Amino acid sequence: MGDDVPADIQYLLKKIPDALRRFTVDAETLSAQSRIPLDLLDDLISAGLPSDYREGNRYFDEIDIANISLYQRLPTPVTLGMRCRAMALMESSSAGEFEVEIVPSCPDLGHPGPCHFDTWGAAGWTQAGTGSDARWLHSSIPPDTELPENIIRIVSGVANELTFFHLPEILRGDISFAVSSGVADCRAAAAVLVGRAQESDIPARPAFGFLLSPPFSSPHQWVEFLVDGRWIAVDPILLRALAEWNMLDGAEWPPHRSPSQILKRIGSDYAPLARHNGAVTTASLPTRWRADISGESQARESR
Ligand SMILES: [Zn+2]
Repeated sequence: MGDDVPADIQYLLKKIPDALRRFTVDAETLSAQSRIPLDLLDDLISAGLPSDYREGNRYFDEIDIANISLYQRLPTPVTLGMRCRAMALMESSSAGEFEVEIVPSCPDLGHPGPCHFDTWGAAGWTQAGTGSDARWLHSSIPPDTELPENIIRIVSGVANELTFFHLPEILRGDISFAVSSGVADCRAAAAVLVGRAQESDIPARPAFGFLLSPPFSSPHQWVEFLVDGRWIAVDPILLRALAEWNMLDGAEWPPHRSPSQILKRIGSDYAPLARHNGAVTTASLPTRWRADISGESQARESR
């Protein structure tokens, strides 16, 4: 694919097999909640956006809508969330600290008996609300380490090869789908990049944690390279996507620049963050950023 970025969203959407689409969101809801005008939806359908017409309503696939929002820069919550991340990246270049909390949700409101929540925190799994909370702190100190040429080459190569895309659950982290289609979620992109590094005997490891930005962070995966004894985070497909969506200056943020100030590592592999009565559940990640004028967070980082 080279540097020729496929700008046409229809081209990208066709890469997702039709059988994996779930037409669950109706046009009225989309228009109300995602602020997509109904006439724009008509235009998108004419241009080939898959949909299903039943019982007098037209239904869409949520993942298609998320992708269209981002690549067409529609003012939906998905796009605004990404814009928050780009802003966090630019604004946290000065000293400061992010604070993230894991707030689990009940998947079955109204069920008999109480909700028991566990969250994954600095002390491992703990019962939510019992004092040992699931709070994570992250100092925003951009690394001053320059990546060597051979690493930049591999990182830039993967940035050109893969386009960031929201994918149906079954394709998330699927390396062979990513390589054959050229579209990948963060998990697959990280796996491909680690693989490329290993082929060249360059020390790299996958990272799982938070993509930090107020007001809400999200779970995310990226790659870290060992340079001069330090693990340096890189996230080429995210940076390339943010630049492509005009949220970030691509010249200032090339794919190999480390966005480590908004990446909080908590492990190597994807892991659930919250449990409800013993079963994995979703969680929101409310996040605050505090500018640090005293330099205290830098002192903490070096400890
Ligand atoms: Zn519950």
